[in-house]
Amino acid sequence: MTREPRHVPGDAPPPGAAGGLAGAAGGPVAGAPLAPRVLPGEDPAAVAEAAALLRAGELVAFPTETVYGLGANALDAAAVARVFAAKDRPSFDPLIVHLADAAEVADHAVPADAADPRVGLLADRFWPGPLTLVLRRRDHVPGIVTAGLPTVGLRVPDHPVARALIRAAGVPVAAPSANRFGRVSPTRASHVVRGLGPRVRLVLDGGPCRVGVESTVVLLAEGRAALLRPGGVPAEAIEAVIGPLATPATGRAGTAALAPGSAGTHYAPGARVEIVDPFDPADRPRLVAKPGERLGLLAASAAGAAAARAAGGPFATVVVLAPDGDPVVVAARLFEALHELDAAGLDRIAAQPVPAVGLGRAVMDRLRRAAVGGQ
Ligand code: AMP
Ligand code: MG
Repeated sequence: MTREPRHVPGDAPPPGAAGGLAGAAGGPVAGAPLAPRVLPGEDPAAVAEAAALLRAGELVAFPTETVYGLGANALDAAAVARVFAAKDRPSFDPLIVHLADAAEVADHAVPADAADPRVGLLADRFWPGPLTLVLRRRDHVPGIVTAGLPTVGLRVPDHPVARALIRAAGVPVAAPSANRFGRVSPTRASHVVRGLGPRVRLVLDGGPCRVGVESTVVLLAEGRAALLRPGGVPAEAIEAVIGPLATPATGRAGTAALAPGSAGTHYAPGARVEIVDPFDPADRPRLVAKPGERLGLLAASAAGAAAARAAGGPFATVVVLAPDGDPVVVAARLFEALHELDAAGLDRIAAQPVPAVGLGRAVMDRLRRAAVGGQ
């Protein structure tokens, strides 16, 4: 196999130096190294170091058989928020959760779906490989991983470095492609270095990927079987194992929740969501509950909550996403907060806007979708 030249400009950061983490707005931290470290994926010490970074909530790029992924601990919502910040994504997409072994499906999917015999049949036949199974998620899988959906996409990748990394980390790894939004997916470590620079701490080099093969995404939740995205495993090969796959029509009511990206709304709470800025006098009248109305407040910061309380109310429920308004924390908590507000039986939710820069753009995109979809 041809190997990539190693890119180790500047070598390792001095002990205690700021790493290549994305800043709050997605930009590099001042004083951070200008490039990530690139280490050989076949070196167990490199894998161990990358695994420790993942466990500590940092981002690591690693090879899979499809493309290089930008990985984070899938169970750490703030780490996953940093993936979106590093990619400069203007919206949230569900991320595929990468597992070391098919046996781990039962850890993250509800028992009824994990025990579906078709899951075992497909796992035996196509894992490790480019097949993602979408099953109902257990509660501990953060909403930012699934873009608020009740399902999670699970896959065992067929790359020895990916599997060694996930196994060593001891956590499932959520990973989209390791490129900035709108750019070509990386198939070499050098592409990741060029595209993300210091936004990622470490790149494990596993040589060039097999190019251009995305995973096939199949929904098996609640006894259904549907092809959500064609990919590396042909649909016919899957049908030969488990029978016919439905193809959900895009835009049809109900399919938005199953095939994200196929409709504008994604997950929207039952209550009407309004974007209301408590610091804008023109918006403040909408912070006052009408007689008999159950009004909820989704505040981005403690200051926003205080301003809203001073200007209006009463609020049946108040959720503050981040005391200091840190966009990473706001993004990490957003989906759970929408679910929490939804469960509170509200008529209306006043949602405080955040500056639409960096991760804030994705947060505002989601709030706007919730505002449209909740009508
Ligand atoms: P990738 O582009 O390979 O990173 O895969 C991400 C894609 O996987 C998403 O855009 C969806 O098409 C699909 N996907 C991941 N999780 C889910 C889910 N819970 N429900 C439906 N599709 C999913
Ligand atoms: Mg991509």
